[in-house]
Amino acid sequence: MLSIGVDIGGTKVLGGVVNLAGEILESTRRDTPKSGGKALTSTISEVILELAGKYEVTSVGISAATLVSSDRQTLIGAPNIADWDGINLRNELFALTKLECVVENDANSAAWGEAIHGAAKGIDHAVILTVGTGIGGGLIVNGSLYRGAHGVAAEFGHIRAVDNGLACGCGSHGCLEQYASGTALMRHTRQALSSDISSGSKILSFGDGTIEGLKGEHITFAAKAGDELAAQLLAQTGYWLGVGAASLAAALDPEIIVIGGGVVDAGDLLLEPTRKSLEENIRFAKNQKLPQVVAAKLGNDAGLVGVADLARR
Ligand SMILES: [Zn+2]
Repeated sequence: MLSIGVDIGGTKVLGGVVNLAGEILESTRRDTPKSGGKALTSTISEVILELAGKYEVTSVGISAATLVSSDRQTLIGAPNIADWDGINLRNELFALTKLECVVENDANSAAWGEAIHGAAKGIDHAVILTVGTGIGGGLIVNGSLYRGAHGVAAEFGHIRAVDNGLACGCGSHGCLEQYASGTALMRHTRQALSSDISSGSKILSFGDGTIEGLKGEHITFAAKAGDELAAQLLAQTGYWLGVGAASLAAALDPEIIVIGGGVVDAGDLLLEPTRKSLEENIRFAKNQKLPQVVAAKLGNDAGLVGVADLARR
């Protein structure tokens, strides 16, 4: 049984044919139309039709950075995509492709990928945090994806980490993703370098030498090469992830917390500080079994593979 997963990113629409083992048999991509709306829907249908023309597929799953209604059809909040709010994407795509589609939130899709084929495989109670521009969350309860009463559960990036803290794009303040996301890591790094540029010479040496040209991976490279500032910056991100993980562990008692996103390439340079902070910030830490904190396994494919599987359910 084959299905198609389509991952809508900020720059590309990536589609793949996925088998039951979670293997991507073939993939294709298009640029994401900046105008969003009908142009984006039409691009997705092109990707689906190209793949469906080569393989016999039974279902299609679409992963997007939007809130999705609980019937998995309608986009109920697409803040970063123009002219997509409120549309019934299942109906629009069915009209263009004659294939049944389901729509899923991107973090839920990635979480399900890790749950079914990745780091949380075979585990019934898992929390998945995808650390990127923001922090995406996914929750596996009793072996199933938990969507909540209105389809928008597990927005863990927006649990409060700091009272009256930094303003967040969601309209609230002090959200976890303002402190523990890749964006926050970059902000912390720029702050450290602008107060003492010479302290960042190792980090900058992995890029073009300027603060403007800095990328997240340069911090990971520098930390792995033994740079102390880079290691401290990753530890700071880990600290905040641990603060969030402690709240989640107190509320949900998961067996495992999976950390995904580019920043986990840093491995234990990120995960050890996360584990330490989790222990320090949870009550009864000595008396209860804490969740394991582990790195995600599927990388950028998690969403595509996950949503292709969700489409079969
Ligand atoms: Zn927020």
